[in-house]
This record gives sequence, C-alpha cells and structure tokens, in this order.
Amino acid sequence: MNGLEDLRRELDETDDSLLAALERRVGLVERVADAKAQSPAALLRDRDREKELLAKLEKKARDRGLNPYFVRRIFHDILEYSIDDQQRHLAARAQGESASLVKVAFQGVEGAYSHLAANKYFGAKSGACAFIGYRGFPEAVAACEAGDVDFVVLPLENTIAGSINATYRLLETSSLVIVGEEVWRVEHCLIGIEGTPLGRIRHIASHPQALLQCGEFLDQMPQCTIESFTDTAEAVRRVKDTQDVTHAAIASEEAAAVYGLAVLKRDIADQRENFTKFVVCAKKAVAYDRRIPCKTSLVLVTDHSEGALLACLRPLHDAHVNMVKLESRPLANTPWEYQFYIDVEGHADDPRMTAALDAMRERARVLKVLGCYPIRTKGYEGVEPVVEIAAPSEPAPVCETPASKPGKPKPYRLAAREAGRRDTQIKIGNALFGGGAFALIAGPCAVESREQIFESARIVREAGASMLRGGVFKPRSSPYSFQGMGWEGLELLVEAGRKFVLPIVTEVLDPGDVQRVAQQADMLQIGARNMQNFALLAEAGRCARPILLKRGMMSSIEELLLAAEYILAGGNTQVILCERGIRTFENATRNTLDLQAVPVLKRLTHLPVIVDPSHAAGERDIIVPMALAAKAAGADGLIVESHPDPDTALCDGPQALTTPMLNELAAKLAAMDKTLERTSA
Ligand code: PEP
Ligand code: MN
Repeated sequence: MNGLEDLRRELDETDDSLLAALERRVGLVERVADAKAQSPAALLRDRDREKELLAKLEKKARDRGLNPYFVRRIFHDILEYSIDDQQRHLAARAQGESASLVKVAFQGVEGAYSHLAANKYFGAKSGACAFIGYRGFPEAVAACEAGDVDFVVLPLENTIAGSINATYRLLETSSLVIVGEEVWRVEHCLIGIEGTPLGRIRHIASHPQALLQCGEFLDQMPQCTIESFTDTAEAVRRVKDTQDVTHAAIASEEAAAVYGLAVLKRDIADQRENFTKFVVCAKKAVAYDRRIPCKTSLVLVTDHSEGALLACLRPLHDAHVNMVKLESRPLANTPWEYQFYIDVEGHADDPRMTAALDAMRERARVLKVLGCYPIRTKGYEGVEPVVEIAAPSEPAPVCETPASKPGKPKPYRLAAREAGRRDTQIKIGNALFGGGAFALIAGPCAVESREQIFESARIVREAGASMLRGGVFKPRSSPYSFQGMGWEGLELLVEAGRKFVLPIVTEVLDPGDVQRVAQQADMLQIGARNMQNFALLAEAGRCARPILLKRGMMSSIEELLLAAEYILAGGNTQVILCERGIRTFENATRNTLDLQAVPVLKRLTHLPVIVDPSHAAGERDIIVPMALAAKAAGADGLIVESHPDPDTALCDGPQALTTPMLNELAAKLAAMDKTLERTSA
C-alpha cells in the first residue's frame, strides 16, 4: 500500500514539474510576442516552422518509446495556445494595458454563461478584473456608456438559435464599439439537490434560450412545469435558496459549482455542438496590429428594390474581402423589411476595406460598422494527420468532356460535367475529396463495442487516414446476422471520432433516421443495397451533410449518376460517389471491382469519385494492390475496412485490413504522391 502512495506522490511531483515547464514556456512566449511587437515584419504565425517542430517532436517521442500521436496532439494544443497567447498579448498592448483594475459588465449573476465567457476572454488578466453583473443587457450597456465600467460582454449569436436580436438592436443604437469576441462551448446540465432522481423533479427553470435548446430533454419530463428566468445561474441560485428537491435548473456545470449544487444530468441540449459567441464592447475602438487576424462586423439596410443587396455586396467581392456571415433579420417596426448582419474578414482601417465600405455606403440606406476585432471563431480543423496522405499539388486528371460537345443532353442535369465546370471539392474536417485532393477513410465494417471502436480510431488516426468509418445500422442478407449497435453505436462512434479528431461516416438505412443521424455524423453513407431507395435519396437531398453514395452491385454507371441526381435535386450539392465492386459471372472474389468506372465517372461528372476495394475483394490480401490501382486510375479517395482484431470481427472480418496492412497502405499511397511529384517536377 505504501508503495502505491509513494508512486502517487512521485506522480504528483512529476505533474508539478510539467506545470512549471508550461509556466516557463508561457513566459517565453510572451517575450516572443513583445519581440514581435517591436519588429513589424515578423510573422505572427509561421506554419512551416510549426510543422517542422511537430515532426521533430514526434520523432523524439518515437525515440523515447512514447506514443507519437499522443505527443503530437499535446504539442499541437500547446502551440495553438501559444499563438492564442501571443495574439491576446499583442491585442492587450493595443488596448493599452493599464495597471489599474479593469471593470467588466455582464448580464446575470456569477456563473452565468456571460460571466464564464468574460473570464475566458480576460484570461490571465482576469485576476486584475472586477466582473459586475447587471440585471439586463440595456443596464450593462448603459453602465459602459456612462464610464462606470471599461468593457461590457454580451452574447451575440448561438450556433443553435442564431443571432441574439436584443444584442444587435442595442449595438445599433448604442455608441459602443465591438473590440473583441469570445466563444464559449455551451454544455447544458440539469442541476439540483445532490442525489435527486429525475423522476422526483416537478419544476425546471432556466433562461428561455437554454430551455429552447433542451426541448427534446424537456419533452421527456412531462411531469414538470417549466419556468423562464432572466439568466441560467439565477435559476440555479433559486434552487439553492429553496433547497427543494422537486426543483431543478438548466445551466452550466460551473454554475452548479458556484452554488454548491449537483449535476443531475449532463449534456441535455438537442444538439451536440452548441457554442455561443460573445462580443466585448468598449467606448473606443482599438487599432489592432495588422498581423492579428481580425474581422469587421456590419449592419446593412438596403433599398427595397431589384438588385439592391447584390449592389451593396459587390464592392466586397471586388476588393476580395471574404464574407463569413450574412444574416437577414426583420427591421424593427417596419413589417416585411429586413436588415442584414454581416461579418467580413479583415481590418476596418485597411485601405482596401475602407474603400469597399465607402462604396457600399453609397449604395446602402444604412451601413454601420459595429467594430473590428481579433477572430476567435475558428472552423473545425483539429490536429493535422501524422502521415500526410492528401496530395494537393497533384494535378487533377484531365478529362476529355464529351458533355461539352453538342449532343444529347444528359438525363442527370446537375451531376453532369458541364464545359468549364470545376470539380466539386468536398471538405470534411481535414479530409478533402475531389478537385485534385485525395483522402483515405478507414475503420471497421461495424461498431461492436466501446473498446473496439476506440482502438480502431486510434489505429486509423496513427496510420494517417483522415476519416473514420463504422456501421451502426447494418444491411445484412440474413436477419439472424449481427444488425449493428444502432443509436448506442452511433454515440460511441461520435465519441471515438471526437477523441481522435477524425470526422465520421456511417450508413443510414431508414429515411426516417436521416435527420437524426445527420445531427451526429459528419457524412452519411447510402449503401449499395439502397442506391435506388428513392425515399432515402430524397431525404438525403434535404439534409445538410455530405452523402457517400455507393454504387449498387447490379447498377450501371448511369443509374448511379441518376441516384446522385435525386440527392442533388433535393438541394444537397455534396455527394461523393463510390465504386465498390459489381456482380459478374466471376466468383473467385466477392465482387468484381470495376476500376474503369473511375475514369468514366470522372469524364461524366464533376462529383468526387472514391473506391471501396474492401467490399469488392472480400478478402484482405487483394485490397492494398487494388487500392493503389484505384489511386493510379484517378480516384479522389478510398474507403477501406480495418479492424484491430479481424478474427473476432462481427461483420466482414475476412476483408478487414490488419493494422500493419493499413499502415502499409498509407505508406504506399504517400510514396505514390512522391513519385507523382518527381515525375511532374
Ligand atoms: C459497408 O460499407 O459496410 C457496406 C455495407 O457497403 P456496401 O453497401 O458497399 O455493401
Ligand atoms: Mn462491410
């Protein structure tokens, strides 16, 4: 027993030295930021240096017998944190760091989401800040206008509910400007008295936004009355005051901690990804260093005339300014007229931007610049793969396009490659399909257990693939075969994808499941057996996720394109086609891989085309050569089955690649890229 305690003590000491090293690193990074502030030509972010650094650390990790994936991930996070820190440091210099106490207003009480976001934004400085809660947004804004506080933090947009009108309205009429933004991941919890079973709860209180975001959970609690409150933390405080076990509140875990209550259930929002963006406002704008990536927020009102919006936006396009948000909202007190909330990338005082804004102003009824501030909303990118598979430099196969010659129009109007039409490129996390890019999807035929899918994800990640597959609804020929784990399996797949930063793809069988699966998976697969399930195709056309459409085992290329047309006609433009083997007289293998389909499809359509050699071959020894052949034939990617222990697989074990085989495939694909680079150089 003593031995264990000693070991634990040693572990604690090791953790302390890790923290001390981190502290030293942060100090150095701030000195680097100061040095950069003195030399305006120095890059704030040097991606090549970062790449080199990660590769070097990864090698050192391998030499020390550490898991290189784990080490890369940690250092990736440390580097991101450093860049963030440098930007904040430079931004703080611009805001004029004062030695005195900074006062920050927010709406609500301690533990409210606005309070949490304010703490995050002021980060290291938060010790020198006084956070003051106000009853409502107008009071908080008024306090800042009056000079009672230096900053006010306001929620502006939620990824489920959209823009928060009240804040926009206040910003339009107030003299304050936006000087910063912060993003907070909202994880709603049900909070109550420790040990209360959910069945005993009769009253649930929260902010109306939070109640809306947890609609599905509340539907499962029909015995409860629902009450809205001015903020989430206030609702928690009330539960604390009543000490009544039948009362509960919806708020953050932090709010539960502040008021000494218990989390009765976690993660109760309808959508997994729930973020709120807050803005930090002040009386005076801040001139940020041009090297800090910034965005500019605008409110635009146009005439109610033909082409008015287009005319107002054209100057942005002409100045090559990227618009990252455009939302229309009803104009106050003017029924059926609208104003637009716009965010563009760039500094408001950049001459290119000022010229564009001037040109917009000439065409607009109202154009208000709400502020310019460092960008903190970033896309879902995650850690770059350990081995790079994508070859963006590879030229796209050149296709003779008969479609461009006059002739019979194709029955698939939207899928057809028109003259001059660029290849469709589909980006899912770090995986890029089409338009010259190539991506590898790997993973088991089916999700079988938590251990199996986590181990699979780790292996897939380490091999350098950029997407994870795993079936949870399995279309099996026999009703007695394993049918998949269903929704429970999907939860596990989502968790594994998150942990190893891999987007996920899974098959959907029932049209009624499409929207629910689309909430969780990054891409939906329609399998060979369902290629002509028209109800399923129509539903896929209504969903906003990319669709992996597999060729039916007895379908022609034209039928595949017509099936894709169903999805495109429904409005979903993101379809990846997949050749996975067809039935022929040949019975030496499970199916016959029709590799000719690749160049033929590339000639006929602009959609990405990938190949599944696993279901064609049915046995693992044939897969690597056919996968390489597919890439040589011009495929935009591959989907292969792999399993940590194929002999125990519940489905398609004989065709599952072992871990060494998957690594071999990845290495050979990378080697092909090198050969291509050499021959094209
Ligand atoms: C699968 O991908 O697991 C699958 C069932 O594929 P297909 O629809 O191509 O048979
Ligand atoms: Mn399979």
